[in-house]
Amino acid sequence: MVARTAHIVLDIPTQALDSPYTYEVPAHLVDEARVGCAVLVPFGSRKAIGFIMEVEERVTDEGGRALKRLERVLSQPYFTAMGARCAAFLAQRYVAPLSACVRLFTPPGGVPRVVRNQHGGWRLEQPTVGEVDDRWVVAGPQLDRFQPRKNAVKQMAVLEAVRRGDVRMTELTLEYGAVSAAVRALVEKGAVVVERRRRMRGDEQPACVAGSRAYQRPAALTECQEQALSAIRAAQHQADGSVVVVDGVTGSGKTEVYLRAIEAELVRGRTAIVLVPEISLTPQTVARFRSRFGSTVAVMHSRMSMGERYDQWDLIREGAARVVVGARSALFTPLQNVGLIVIDEEHETTYKQESAPRYVSRDVAAWMMQQSSGTLVLGSATPSIEALYQARVRPGWSFVSMPKRANGSPLPQVEVVDMAAEFAAGSRSMFSGRLRRALTDELAAGHKAVLLLNQRGFASFLLCRDCGFVPECVNCSTSLTFHERGNKLVCHHCGYEIAAPAVCPECESPYLKRFGAGTQRVETELRSLIDAELGADAAVPVVRMDADTTAAKGAHQRLLEEFARAPRAVLLGTQMIAKGLDFDDVTLVGVVNADTQLHLPDYRASERTFDLIEQVAGRAGRGALPGRVIVQTYEADSIAIRAAAAYDREAFLVPELEKRRVLRYPPYVRMANVLIWGPDEKAVRAEADRLHACIRERVASADRDWEVLAATPCVIARIRGNFRWHIVVKGPQDCDMAAALRDVFAHRKPDGRTTVALDIDPVDLL
Ligand code: ADP
Ligand code: ZN
Ligand code: ZN
Repeated sequence: MVARTAHIVLDIPTQALDSPYTYEVPAHLVDEARVGCAVLVPFGSRKAIGFIMEVEERVTDEGGRALKRLERVLSQPYFTAMGARCAAFLAQRYVAPLSACVRLFTPPGGVPRVVRNQHGGWRLEQPTVGEVDDRWVVAGPQLDRFQPRKNAVKQMAVLEAVRRGDVRMTELTLEYGAVSAAVRALVEKGAVVVERRRRMRGDEQPACVAGSRAYQRPAALTECQEQALSAIRAAQHQADGSVVVVDGVTGSGKTEVYLRAIEAELVRGRTAIVLVPEISLTPQTVARFRSRFGSTVAVMHSRMSMGERYDQWDLIREGAARVVVGARSALFTPLQNVGLIVIDEEHETTYKQESAPRYVSRDVAAWMMQQSSGTLVLGSATPSIEALYQARVRPGWSFVSMPKRANGSPLPQVEVVDMAAEFAAGSRSMFSGRLRRALTDELAAGHKAVLLLNQRGFASFLLCRDCGFVPECVNCSTSLTFHERGNKLVCHHCGYEIAAPAVCPECESPYLKRFGAGTQRVETELRSLIDAELGADAAVPVVRMDADTTAAKGAHQRLLEEFARAPRAVLLGTQMIAKGLDFDDVTLVGVVNADTQLHLPDYRASERTFDLIEQVAGRAGRGALPGRVIVQTYEADSIAIRAAAAYDREAFLVPELEKRRVLRYPPYVRMANVLIWGPDEKAVRAEADRLHACIRERVASADRDWEVLAATPCVIARIRGNFRWHIVVKGPQDCDMAAALRDVFAHRKPDGRTTVALDIDPVDLL
């Protein structure tokens, strides 16, 4: 006998690596039960929600055990067969629970749930987020003929409003109080009609932001843009999953290139996804896409309300959206027939998801375009070393550079100030003489400045204020982390540890101190500097942007507008100000401290420092006025800083790649980070050691190219009372990391005292 069956992933959160179950689809549900639908199924003695991954006709053996039957179909399809395949790919590649991977594809606001009650029964609960309707009052056939009685004041008011145009019930109520009786009477007379219309939440977004430029289609492309576009067009023409890395300096006009590539894709009847880092996903950015593609643009990011996100998701599901602009989750909307994915600011770490499934957007997008014969564009002023490397060695990858700004204005001059020399000359200020003078000059001339306080991570290291020396590990060439408890220095890669020296081992200065300063402290010092130089009544606003001041919804935008409106001002902030800002009148960019990253025990630290300086430099001199950039550092001689100041990528890349090759870091190896945490340090350590032995036995015996580093405490050794340990695994560049580690994790029994996470191709090792 042939029966229709469905493979179903149960929506039950689990640490275990689940796989689909097979159910029979009863005849009356055959039409409804499609891939992507949420369904109700029996599971043991209870009911569960699941999602259909695949349907097939199967010959059932008469004597065999009967399959359980699917009971109800609860939704329209949330995803297509491609989505189902992608979820399976994520589960496989990142050794993640399949149910968590499928969840990426479900609508914002959740899916139906089975809720148990006290009596052992259960009921079905629908998600509370869904579409909202507005009731509109519109003209009826008798509108012009009907005359209400003289004392029917509300009826007359409603009629008058409707004569001016369609009006929402809620607006009438706001204006005239309770109107439902009046409206009902008018409906009976045929004077008006009440209609339900779907409301799209969030459509009221401001079209543009004060101080920033409106966006128009340029009459002609620049030469750089032509070249980049023709490289992308060639890839689009081939339609074979090619990847194009676009290396374009800030202001080179990459957005226009993306827009034209998308146009071409739409003409061919396909759709496009544009990923933008969360922080750059401002109304300005969205307006650029809407101005070209109008209401076919859907937007997805986490600062939208759940209702807004649901509406956008539903717009995509209906097929009304052809272009989706969003943060990394925009990869998983129900957009069909995607022919192009653009990842802007491709190097950004926010493209890595840090909870299960811990995926790398770049790699997932590449897989998607491979599957659907599309094109992937990776754009950045500072492409990641992985992308640059793959563009050199991988077939199907190409590289194009856009070295000039679209408006022809030169890149600003970058000056490096050696803070160790400042210190030697007696200065104890956070602001060097050079930065102080530049700031006063620019503000006095009525210009604006942006100051960046580099605060990534909070690992602390020791820095000699006299000679710039930082204690490093003898084995790993990364800085040692200072631990207050025990006053010691520890390497978080190999476990090497020494007592913290009291004086600098290089120059014997006693100023070997912890490094780091908060934005508030810098703000205070900045205020007094401005008051001292320009007078307390100069009224120069200092706009501070950090995690604290931008926590509230809309705060980010409000602060930017405040900065835009002021005739002269200083914007002081953390990394979040380094990108996306496009103000004409910023003539000075200062990096207060370029060092914190260099000394994180993180092999990407130099790359991040290089990127940071190039990105932040791009904020200066975008308009007619020339810009300058001042970078303060205790490491004026480091290659990352010197090369960035000279805009010389090769000078940085050549030695950096060599370092990574020798020390065995990506892109020359693949890594995995195994994280173990829990409230009891002994248990965490024991589990870490056990896993270490277990992994070692599996992989080290397989190949000499594998390396399993000893379990060590993480740099951030404790979070919310949990002790954190980790194990770093390295394998050959082309290895199947998932296959090597899967068994260790698939068969691990939860011990109730520790939690374990596996992060394949990790970005954050802290
Ligand atoms: P990027 O994303 O590469 O930093 P943008 O896309 O923000 O650069 O473009 C920088 C500026 O150049 C914008 O103000 C944009 O309007 C302008 N621009 C882009 N293309 C052209 C062009 N072909 N001619 C003139 N101006 C352009
Ligand atoms: Zn010293
Ligand atoms: Zn070490």
